[in-house]
Amino acid sequence: MGIGHGGGFRGVDARAQRRLNADAPRILHLRHRVTDLFRPYRGRIATTGLLVVVGAGIAVIPPLIVQRIFDDALFPLAGGGPDLALLVRLVLAMVLLFLVSAALGLVQTWITATVGNSVTGDLRVRLFEHLQAMELGFFTRTKTGVIQSRLQNDVGAVSGVLTNTVTSILGNAVTVIASLVAMIVIDWRLTIIAVILMPILAVVQRRVGQLRARIAGQTQESLSELTAITQETLSVSGILLSKSFNRQRTESARYRQENRNQVRLQVRRAMSGQGFFAVVQVLVASVPAVIYLVSGIIVAGGAGGITAGTIVAFTTVQARLLQPLMGLMRVALDLQTSSAVFARIFEYLDLVPAIADAPDAICVAEGPGPLGRVEFQDVSFRYPDAAADTRPTLGGVSFVAEPGQHVAFVGPSGAGKTTVLYLTPRMYEASAGAVLFAGTDVRRLTHESIIDQIGIVSQETYLFHATIRENLCYAKPDATDEELVQACRAASIHHVIAGFEHGYDTVVGERGYRLSGGEKQRIAIARVLLKDPPVLLLDEATSALDTVSERVVQEALEEASRGRTTLSVAHRLSTVIGADIIHVVDGGRIVESGTHAQLLARDGLYAQLAAQQIAATRVLQTETDEAPVTPADHPDRRADRAPGD
Ligand code: ATP
Repeated sequence: MGIGHGGGFRGVDARAQRRLNADAPRILHLRHRVTDLFRPYRGRIATTGLLVVVGAGIAVIPPLIVQRIFDDALFPLAGGGPDLALLVRLVLAMVLLFLVSAALGLVQTWITATVGNSVTGDLRVRLFEHLQAMELGFFTRTKTGVIQSRLQNDVGAVSGVLTNTVTSILGNAVTVIASLVAMIVIDWRLTIIAVILMPILAVVQRRVGQLRARIAGQTQESLSELTAITQETLSVSGILLSKSFNRQRTESARYRQENRNQVRLQVRRAMSGQGFFAVVQVLVASVPAVIYLVSGIIVAGGAGGITAGTIVAFTTVQARLLQPLMGLMRVALDLQTSSAVFARIFEYLDLVPAIADAPDAICVAEGPGPLGRVEFQDVSFRYPDAAADTRPTLGGVSFVAEPGQHVAFVGPSGAGKTTVLYLTPRMYEASAGAVLFAGTDVRRLTHESIIDQIGIVSQETYLFHATIRENLCYAKPDATDEELVQACRAASIHHVIAGFEHGYDTVVGERGYRLSGGEKQRIAIARVLLKDPPVLLLDEATSALDTVSERVVQEALEEASRGRTTLSVAHRLSTVIGADIIHVVDGGRIVESGTHAQLLARDGLYAQLAAQQIAATRVLQTETDEAPVTPADHPDRRADRAPGD
């Protein structure tokens, strides 16, 4: 029976059915992978299995006792009155068995809850660690909310299955098998009548499972969209954007629409299969009536072997079959339903990081060159998601930064300056040529050792919603108070922090929004100073600041870059005039190189950029009637310094 072709499962068309059939090997593969998740807990699962078998064995006995109560103790087949002594013994035995089975159930629940939750926890951690290993490019092309949703919602959605599966399968399967055995022992003919519909139920149940899997996939997709909207809209940057453009109503409408979709899917998910379960329930519940009927026919037909005890015992066992049978069906259905969610999780786990350490990677310190030396050899690069027919972002870039040198990159917007900084610590992989760190190709170095060598200060400073101390200690967890103060003094931020009511224990707010841009920058600089790396990457660190803040941050940066190789990207030429060498980047190529004076004398692109900035400053000067600010005539940079610094 094809779904959607008389099967009664509206919403699933033939195309979807074909896709589901084609997915069969993948689902089988999935089953292996889900089973593998339980591998570390084999011992405990085996113990549970043993407890379940014992428990199920015990559970079969009471109905047999019931048969004896009726046929030997209450209404002895041999004739005579009830045998009270036997009755008491049988009743006591029954109570004892119930006690033992309850105790076994408790232990079993504890083990399975531990195993199930541990497997869920392991999966969550594996996914988190795997995502952390993904290259930067993955995060620039994937919505943060979508990533978070796979980790939270998807793992959350399968956690119930992981937690209940072991108990349900073991417990119910054993009970079903044991009950069937008991039923056969009591009367094999009645057993055939009782189980005759099972194969049909199994087929229908598979179809329902496939439908549910599809709905589950759609539900998780919609949930991830909801999470993405929440993340985009209710983050500090998002709410600022929506408030400043009065877009709250539009955002609400977007959220409401996706939420409606989510509600619809949840209802479909809750309802799909309910009809099937109702039918199963009716069928299984009607079996005793059918048994009475068939027993009557057998007895009336003269065939022997069926007593009142037989019928009572049989229907007792058969009634006990209902719950475990439904339980097994539910677990099979849940497994099938969650296959779509498991597929989503494994899809992320199967992502191969585009940049990973080579098996024989060495540490930077083991390389031949001096620490702090950075070299680009004819490097070309194209962003992975850039269109193939566009020109490369970088083409044939070569330069050397010797230890302690300040090498600056300037040029028009979009020229590729920031990209040079990304390639230096191998955040992206050069398409051609080589990036060398301390004399070794970065592809032969461990990523961890490269990162240990560098400090990054960019325009966008990321601070955690934590105290200033915690944010600083991110760079050096064991930093002492003296070290913190020393770094903050050097970064000209100590006097600001000391002025806060809670000093270094002030919580900076989400992404540091309780601090000004300049203050955040200086905390970022202090963080780098604590790390004390030989190489510093400065990406337009001061370009978002006003002139006064820029001066203070610039001075902190000069302090920070002393004795370190510094690669800096700047728009304001005033911040790079002291650089040992300035490379002018245009269209992904270095078109001019030299010191500030050499480049001005050359009268090329750099001189043009300088002239533009001088002209812009002159306009300002005319308007404010103040002294001109030019790259060559930089104002006093100590203006904003506090006496304590
Ligand atoms: P600006 O001074 O404006 O910051 P820039 O010189 O630092 O510019 P880059 O940020 O290096 O320029 O960008 C160089 C080019 O690469 C630009 O055309 C930009 O659109 C493109 N680009 C940057 N990041 C990506 C990315 N993740 N994927 C695809 N293209 C990108």
